[in-house]
This record gives sequence, C-alpha cells and structure tokens, in this order.
Amino acid sequence: MGDFYEAFDDDAARLAETLGIALTSRPLGKDEGRVPMAGIPHHALERHLDQLVAAGLRVALAEQVEPPGRGLVERRVLRVVTPGTVEGGALLPEGSHNWLVALAPEPAAARGGGDTERRWGLAACDATTGELECLLVGEGALGGELARLAARELLLPDGAAGALPEELAPEARRTSRPARAFAPGEADRALRERYGVASLEGFGLAGLEAAVGAAGALLGYLEESWPQALRQLRTPRAPRPGEFVALDAQTRRTLELFESAGGPEATLLGTIDRTLTGPGARLLRERLGRPLRDARAAGARLDEVAAWLEAPLARSALRRALRGLPDIERLIGRVRAGSAGPRQLLQLRRGLERLPELAGQARAAGGAAAPIAPELGGAGETAGALAAALADDPPEAGEGESLRPGADAELDALRALAADARGALAELEAAERERSGLRGLKVGYHRVFGYYLELPRTQAGQAPPEYEPRQTLANAQRFRYRPLSELEDRILGAKERLVEAERAALARLCEQVAAAGPAIERAAAAVARLDVAAALAELAADAGYVRPLLRPAGPIVIEEGRHPVVERRLEPGAFVPNDLSLGDGTGIVVLTGPNMGGKSTYLRQTALIVLLAQCGSYVPAARAEIGMTDAIFTRVGAHDDLAGGRSTFMLEMVETAQILHRASERSLVLLDEIGRGTSTRDGLAIARAVVEALHHRPGGAPRTLFATHYRELTALAGLLPRVANRAVAVAEQGGELVFLHRIEDGAADRAYGVHVAALAGLPRAVVARARELLTQLEAAPRGAEWGGNGAAPAAAPAESPEGGQLPLLAAPPDALTEQVAALEPDELSPLEALQRLYELRAAARARLGVEG
Ligand code: ATP
Repeated sequence: MGDFYEAFDDDAARLAETLGIALTSRPLGKDEGRVPMAGIPHHALERHLDQLVAAGLRVALAEQVEPPGRGLVERRVLRVVTPGTVEGGALLPEGSHNWLVALAPEPAAARGGGDTERRWGLAACDATTGELECLLVGEGALGGELARLAARELLLPDGAAGALPEELAPEARRTSRPARAFAPGEADRALRERYGVASLEGFGLAGLEAAVGAAGALLGYLEESWPQALRQLRTPRAPRPGEFVALDAQTRRTLELFESAGGPEATLLGTIDRTLTGPGARLLRERLGRPLRDARAAGARLDEVAAWLEAPLARSALRRALRGLPDIERLIGRVRAGSAGPRQLLQLRRGLERLPELAGQARAAGGAAAPIAPELGGAGETAGALAAALADDPPEAGEGESLRPGADAELDALRALAADARGALAELEAAERERSGLRGLKVGYHRVFGYYLELPRTQAGQAPPEYEPRQTLANAQRFRYRPLSELEDRILGAKERLVEAERAALARLCEQVAAAGPAIERAAAAVARLDVAAALAELAADAGYVRPLLRPAGPIVIEEGRHPVVERRLEPGAFVPNDLSLGDGTGIVVLTGPNMGGKSTYLRQTALIVLLAQCGSYVPAARAEIGMTDAIFTRVGAHDDLAGGRSTFMLEMVETAQILHRASERSLVLLDEIGRGTSTRDGLAIARAVVEALHHRPGGAPRTLFATHYRELTALAGLLPRVANRAVAVAEQGGELVFLHRIEDGAADRAYGVHVAALAGLPRAVVARARELLTQLEAAPRGAEWGGNGAAPAAAPAESPEGGQLPLLAAPPDALTEQVAALEPDELSPLEALQRLYELRAAARARLGVEG
C-alpha cells in the first residue's frame, strides 16, 4: 500500500511477532473501530521476507496492479514465497542449488506384479537457474536422492505424506498438493505444450510417468506461486539409469560430504573446494553428490583437470579472472523471469565482458581445457548491447537515469523535454523579475503546493495582480501564477513519462538479453566447468593429489592413501599414509586393531578416494587404480534414531540388511563394528554371518572392508578364500601405547581397550581393576567360567545374558574346529600340511594365552 507492505488482523499480529516490528492499528471506517496493522517498507522487503520464510511461513505478496488514483486501488497476489521459491537474499546460498522437489508414488499397476519395490516419481527444479530434473527412484534409493538434493521444500500429493518416512528430508517443508496435480496424463500435455514438442521422449522421459506427473505438479505450483519463474525453465534432464554411483543417505552422512558436526571445514566439500564462482561451487557440489559410474566420462573430467594442472600460468590467470565474477547463471535467470533491475543488468554485463578473457586462458592452457573456449563465445553481442544501453552506474530502480544518452531515441527526447522545462523555469523567473522590476522574485517548489513565485515580505505589496497569493510566511509571501502552473504540468508530465519510457526501454533490453538466454546459459555452464577443473587442479597442486587410473572394472589399489579431511587437520606430514588392495583375489578385508588406532579413518579414506576419483578429481594418494564402483555403502559407528523410534542396534541391522540386499559385485562396502550393539555372542554370530553372506554372494562378493573388535573373526581368513586380515599397528613403549596408524597384513593380537580407557582418563582404580580382570580372562581356558579363583566379580558381567557364563573374549566354540574341519589333507603338499599345522598350533596357543 503505497511504500509499504501492510498486514491486518491476525496476519498483522503474526508479522509483528515474527519480525519484532510494531503492531499498530488503523481505523476501519466511520465508527467501525480499528483493525490491527503492521507494515514493512517496500525497500526492506527482501530482508524481512527471509526472516518470514525462515520462520516457516508462506508469504503472499499482494501488489498494486494499477496506478494509485482516487478510490480503491486494485491489488492482486502476484507471488507466494516459500522455502523452495525464494529468489534471492540470505536464504539463497550462492554455492548450492535451491531444489524444490515434487514426489509422487508410482501406482502399483505400473510396477507390474511380484515383490518389486515401490517406486517414486521425483521432479526437482531450481527456479533460480531454471534447471529441471525428472527421475524414477526405488524406495530404497529415495533417501539417498533426497539427501543429495537437500530439498528445502517437498511437494506431496494429498494423502501420500504418510507413505513417506518422516526421516527422509527432515529439513524440508512438506507442502500438500491435490492428488490430481500429479496426474501423469495432464502433466504430459502441460509439459509438451510448454516446450512445444509432440512427445517427451526426446528428453528421455519415456516410461517415467510418475516423474512426469511430479514435474506437472511442480509446474502447477510455480504457476500459482511464481509464474515468472516458469519463463526461464530449461528443458528437463533425466539421468540415465546407472549413470551415477548409488549413495544412500546413511553413507552420505557417514562420509560427511557436505555436513559435519565439526562444521563446514570438516566436510569433504569444505576441504577440497577451491572454486571461485557461484556456478562453479554449485557444480562441484553436484558432482560430489553424484559420482559417475562410467570410467570414460570421469576420465574426461580428469583430462580437464590435467590440462589446468600442467598449465600453472594460465591457471592462475584464469583464477584471477574468475575471482569476483558475477553469477551469470542466476542473473540470466532473473532477466528471464523479468525481475532484473538496472543493477542486475550491469552485473550481467560485467560478467559477460569477462568471458573472452576466460576463453583466452582456456585456449592458452590447451589440451582438454581448450575445447571449452567456443562455449564461452556466444554472449559477445549481448554484452555489447548492454554496454551500449546501460549507464555506467545506474540507480537501484529506474529513475530516468538507468540508460545512456543515445541508447533510446524516445528517452532522449523526453530527457531533453525535462531539461528544457527546467530551463524554461529559469527563463520564466528572469522574465518575471524583469517585467515586475522586483529583484527579490524567485521560483520555488513545495512538495504539496508545487511551483510558486516568492517575494520578500517587503516587496509583497508590489506584486502584479496576476500573482494570486497562496501562503504567507514570516519573511515572504508565496504566489500562484498561471503560466508557472502550466509549466509545472509540463515538467511533471515529462518526468513521469521519462520514468515510464525508461521502464519500457529496460523491458525491451531485458527481452533482447533473454532472447540470447540459451547462449548465455551455455556460457555460464562453461564457466562452472572451467572453475571446477581449475579448482581441482589447484587442489591437486597444493595438496599433493594424483590422477587416479580409472578402469571399468577390477580391483581398487591405493598406494599411500590419505584421508583428505583428517590430513588437513594434522600437522603437515603427520598423517600416516596407508596402502590398500581390494578385489584382486582378496574381496574382503577384516581389519582389526586397537581402539583409536585409525580403523574408521582408513575405511572412510578408502570411500573418499574412490568417490573423488569417480567424480573426476585427483586423489590424496601416491598412486591409485580404481575399478569403477556402482555403489558405495558404509555402516560406520553407532547412532541413534530416537525420533524414528528405533534403537541403535535395530537401526544398524536395518542398514546392514539394506546393504546385503543391494550391494553388487561392483560395489564398495565399508562396515565398521557390525554387531556391536548386542551381546558379544549374538554380535559375533551376526558379524560372521554377514561376512559369509557377502563372501558367498552369487555373482561375486562386493569389495568389502570390515573393521571389527571381534578378533575371532580373523579366523575367517583361514576358512574363506577371498578373506584376508589386516591390522592397525601399535607399539608399546615402557607400558605406554603408541599408535602407529599403520595398516599391516595380519590380525591384531590385542584390543588395547583398557589402555585407551586409561588414556581417556577413566579413574585409576577402575583401570587397575579392568587390567586384573582382563588378565584372568585372557588366561582362562576356553569355556571357563568367570571367577572361581577368588576374584569373582560382585555381579555377573552385563555382557553375558546367561548370567556370567561367558568369558568376555572367548572365541566362539567352533572357530578353530571349523578351521580343522575345512582342511583337505589330500590337496595339501607335505610342506603345506606342515605349515597349516604350525598355524593351527599358533592359533590354539594364542587362544590359551600361551606364549610362543
Ligand atoms: P575406534 O575403534 O575406537 O572407533 P578407530 O580405530 O576407528 O577407533 P579412528 O577413529 O579411525 O580410530 O582414529 C582415531 C584418531 O587417530 C583419528 O581421530 C585421527 O586423529 C588419528 N588417525 C587415524 N588414522 C591416522 C593416520 N593414518 N595418520 C595419523 N593419524 C591418524
């Protein structure tokens, strides 16, 4: 309303409370009392919108749609702002997309019979860049996709909200939409119409009915809340099945790709991100969230990184040019949505003008960097048009000064007229002074009364009769004068027309720029690619990463691999690099070692190296050879799902079940202390059964790292051909434990849990007692009861469900037996037989705690 957005009644109370602004009131009409009111000035809208949306409100903006005159002004809701439809401000982070996601469950009929899992149609749109993506996702993979997108808002058909587990996308605002908005047939028609095509097959959308339905719901929602955004919608993308590595939500969390309790610095992205532009940061994030399965495609990205790595001069010149480059991608989005003002156009011009320099550096770098140069070339004309039309320092909003003289003939004429009118004022003043002979006469302006003539009080009496007195001041008298009023009409009319004409000229300019939209989008995408490739080269150069050798299939071999995040937190050189070979005969590594030894770190660094490689990045290692994976699964550490009502152990088993169902022989599986959350016996039994299941998987075992404190599991290496033992090395110096963080072949001999407990500051008496008990347990023969020699504990140990029958560290009764049972004497050479006999004796002695 005028210069304010005002809210009334309950809305006013809410606005005032949320924003901490004054709640006032205004009269409702004659004798009808007052209505509560709160308002914000229009120039402060963006900031307040952020606050309102962040507080979880949907904000409808009603605008005046006709110029204010007498009587009621027509107003209409032109825009509804929600988390998924913010256009700028603090809620729109530069370095990530703002995905609005629609989800529709696939009708059971479309799935065909049998026990195939339910699928969801998913459509995601970033309205600030116009990107739209459609895919069909199995229920098991849905969590991973939603975690990747980090959607701010989720559109769901009425009634389907219950079908979607609460823990999926917990941060997203859930917005219910009528089920018919998701109808595939209607959506198909709407999409074809929008893109002017006869069929959606060309976009790869054939067979994705539920996803098309979801896209239809998205479009319908935008139509209602932000119709301008639809103008910049790009053609939908549909990823090919099998294009990307599957990463479930748990794995994404474990690997701390984008979020970590330790803050952004502790994430993979925070560690490796050297990009300098918004589009570059968004692209890097997108790539990390979606590693490629195809070795050739990832290799092509590596070629680009290599080109920039080998051309350090071009790289630093490029990075100088990228620094501070405006976000062309979002700016062209605003132009196409019709919400770009003169300042945004100037920003766009500055961005476009730098493209030729970027192209020049790409050519200078050569190699795989060069072919990107032509992609940057399509925007020269637009940059020229903007430079020719826009003033060098245009004001925030059009005030008649946004465009250069000469840019628009009508504007020039109106400006001349306005200037002319000002000249005419001066002329009138001089002429009247002359005519009346009153030297003190001057022309003045008042906001309410307009132009007037003014005489000092002393000369007021000599005013000619045509001057009509208007206002008497202490020292002066003001007059109305008809020729001056006529001039005033001309002046104000010219100014109004000037502003109007400038608005029209800006709109034409925007249209002209928007017409070049696709070329500018291509250029923006090329900028993002350049930025990412050069940033990864910069990273490789200053953090000592190497180019991984990617193979379509085969083992994962890593020499001197490091954890990218942990190594950065330590002193330079303090991180101990480790080797790995997985999938070359050995499919499953059982990793044992003391607490705090570095098992989890080793597991995670393996996943991160593989992930980086498949994203097309160099990796923290001396050498890496990666047989491409189709999925990475991790089950690391304990965490609770109190909200979901599942215990730690239950959750662990649910996740383990998922992995067993979904991992293929091409997957990478990282399991840390499976079966820890229950009794020792149950846990050990489960852990062993899981290893066996992975090992015997029809089609081949996934490449697996299995970290465990159950040293009994190391016996599996003797039973299963593709299982090998590795252990974290420690040294004891004068009773002190020294963590070497080195992974070696073989099994750990002890857990050192008591040592670590002491290091952690457990009371000395408790540590001493634990040592004593441990000594007894380790000396006890298999199956012996705890105590019985005068050192019985006060109560049965909690670990044992049978009430103190189970020695804590006893082997399962059959591990050694099974090793013996598995022997095939006929197939052994005499030497091998002797060797096995020694091994068995060593195992038996180790179990008895006998030296030698
Ligand atoms: P637990 O069994 O108690 O879970 P863990 O064996 O999984 O322990 P990690 O959590 O991986 O141990 O590592 C413990 C700490 O040791 C890490 O926080 C890290 O600081 C350090 N560390 C791990 N690996 C290395 C390494 N290779 N070089 C240097 N320091 C390391």
